[in-house]
Amino acid sequence: VSDWQGRKITVAGLGVSGVSAARALAGLGARVTVVDGGDGDAHRARAAELAPLGIAVRLGDAGTLPEGTDLVVTSPGWKPSSPLFAAAAAAGADVVGDVEIAWRLRGPDAPPWLAVTGTNGKTTTTRMLASILTAAGLRTAAIGNIGTPIVDVVTGDEPYDVLAVELSSYQLHWAPSLRAHSAAVLNLAPDHLDWHGSMEAYAADKGRIYEGNTVACVYNAADKATEDLVREADVEEGCRAIGFTLGTPGPSQLGVVDGILVDRAFVADRQKQAQELAEVGDVDPPAPHNIANALAAAALARAFGVAPAAVRDGLRAFRPDAHRIEHVADVARVAYVDDSKATNTHAAQASLAAYEPIVWIAGGLAKGATFDELVAASAGRLRGAVLIGADRALIREALARHAPEVPVVDLDRTDTGAMSAAVAEAAALARPGDTVLLAPACASMDMFTDYNKRGEAFAEAVRALAAERG
Ligand code: ADP
Repeated sequence: VSDWQGRKITVAGLGVSGVSAARALAGLGARVTVVDGGDGDAHRARAAELAPLGIAVRLGDAGTLPEGTDLVVTSPGWKPSSPLFAAAAAAGADVVGDVEIAWRLRGPDAPPWLAVTGTNGKTTTTRMLASILTAAGLRTAAIGNIGTPIVDVVTGDEPYDVLAVELSSYQLHWAPSLRAHSAAVLNLAPDHLDWHGSMEAYAADKGRIYEGNTVACVYNAADKATEDLVREADVEEGCRAIGFTLGTPGPSQLGVVDGILVDRAFVADRQKQAQELAEVGDVDPPAPHNIANALAAAALARAFGVAPAAVRDGLRAFRPDAHRIEHVADVARVAYVDDSKATNTHAAQASLAAYEPIVWIAGGLAKGATFDELVAASAGRLRGAVLIGADRALIREALARHAPEVPVVDLDRTDTGAMSAAVAEAAALARPGDTVLLAPACASMDMFTDYNKRGEAFAEAVRALAAERG
């Protein structure tokens, strides 16, 4: 009889991860109820699929805890302040996320986890890491915040040697007993502060990824906050702090020397000071922030014992996902670039630093962010700005403070057609040789389902413009 037999578990949220956890736990004999505030057709259809598995679904009420619940499994998006969790606390029931469930359900010979978090670059780094591990002949998958639901992978039949796990700050918040082999925090900048409540709380949740690491805690030598998290973490004896830097690496670091990615942390040959891994040109795109991602992925792979040649081959085989600094087209000698995935100011700053002059399309949901630092750092590169979305006034005010000479078009629109109007306005501001850059620095949900849809709307508008002017 499994530990889960007969336990009364409430799953919060009928999304992909919630359904995956509900199925796995019901399969182990738990009595599962899924609760969700929505009750539209899609919700009802999903509920109907779960009924034959003995999973109860309660729609239209996200706040009341089902009687007798002893564990709540939450979807990452639910805020810690949600009424359901107050009810759970009152009832003495723990609240955990799907990553915690995956960790508890893993088998005795489960593969170790190499984990990645950070404000930006998580998906890219995790996929680079999986590419490197695959090049080394290891059976692996990139999971967590991406790909197949983590519970499905951990409880499935497919055998793995090691897992590359992307973890958001939300997932880490709800995964108290997770212990990775090695983990990396790529960078730390304000994001999701509305969810976490404060920068301190956000950093503390990110720092959880280092707890109990056995081999390496990988930090960004250019971002002291990540190094501080390593210092504060409680790790296994012998676990090392490994830094990555875009400059010459110190001992126990990976870095860049004369256009070569080098490793000074895991050098097997005692005669050697450093081990060459790959060339900067092996990384796609070879922008500074992405070289940093590659170094972090390499550090985790090296901590797992992967050979230098496999690091090079894995990086060469890697291609970035869509909507991440993606060149869409040139129209009238103006380049149109889609960085819809720049959903916060730190990410937008990375792509704004890569072009000049720029007509910047920005705006959306600010999630509690301020824009002064971003605008001040990028002001000199801006030809103009076109603002869309709910919180565009915050960006307009920052532009007025730090770049008063830059022309700004405030579209005052949040309908989906606003994107093609924004592209037309940007085209009017741009001169030959400029780049029109969609780097919203905001979330997309005020206007689009997600950043994919926002990027597609941009690309569509650019293609229409090309057809008209081409
Ligand atoms: P995440 O999974 O953390 O959201 P992605 O790899 O999907 O990160 O990249 C999101 C966006 O963040 C990219 O479009 C790019 O603008 C930016 N970005 C990627 N890596 C970094 C980095 N290391 N530092 C700053 N910005 C980055």
